[in-house]
Amino acid sequence: MPELPEVETIVRGLASCILNKVIAHVDVNLPRMVTPAPPLFEAMLRGQTLRACERRAKYIVFTLDHGYQLIVHLRMTGRFMYAQADDAAPPYSHVHFRFTDGTQLFFADTRTFGRMRIVEPDEAWAAGLGVEPLSPEFTVNALHALCKGRTTPIKTFLLDQRHIAGIGNIYACEALWQARIAPSTPAGNLKPAARAALHAALQDVLERAIHMRGTSARDYVDAEGLKGGFQNVLTVYGRHGQACPRPRCGGSIERSVLAQRGTWWCRRCQR
Ligand SMILES: [Zn+2]
Repeated sequence: MPELPEVETIVRGLASCILNKVIAHVDVNLPRMVTPAPPLFEAMLRGQTLRACERRAKYIVFTLDHGYQLIVHLRMTGRFMYAQADDAAPPYSHVHFRFTDGTQLFFADTRTFGRMRIVEPDEAWAAGLGVEPLSPEFTVNALHALCKGRTTPIKTFLLDQRHIAGIGNIYACEALWQARIAPSTPAGNLKPAARAALHAALQDVLERAIHMRGTSARDYVDAEGLKGGFQNVLTVYGRHGQACPRPRCGGSIERSVLAQRGTWWCRRCQR
């Protein structure tokens, strides 16, 4: 599933292609993917100019002329593809936008879990989402306040979008390795030094991943069809049985299961 760095990469790519374009036509081939149901969904978008394209957590947020927003969650395999006027639809294309200049935007999704929803200008659709980990609001003290008193394993805590938004399995594993914290440590038990290390590691891992245009662990590509590069520098995620990359550690990466999610870590240097 695309996490914060992948969605951020997609949003930046989309913004450079489609900002200020006017939607001439929308076609929905899979009605359950969109809210409200077609034909209202199509009618609310037709004639609208895309004024902004931003990320909130793992959501892509398009702001339209009339103040409504189109909120998109890619889930497992959703992807946008920007295309020229005469390009054919890609396989598994379920929503098709055509702009007044003839260019097109396809939303393709092999597993069809992706969702699009039009929300009202004052709708608090993001109210349940936690702090953005790269925002100024996410300080060491903020992390402390979020963790305080919690017995949830820190790895599971990091995946809970109500606390910190945008982190998924890959970057939770990577940040915990970087901060030398065992994934099963109760969130409320982290010592101040460990909390500070985790805070720094989360921001560092996410920033480096954005810089490398995300992780193409399975089939992720951005809106221009480019793969990310962060899969080449992963330290623990998906690497069970391999040597821990920390100099002089000598441990090997193992895979545990925490809250039904595969968790990669090094028992020797993550305490
Ligand atoms: Zn190690």
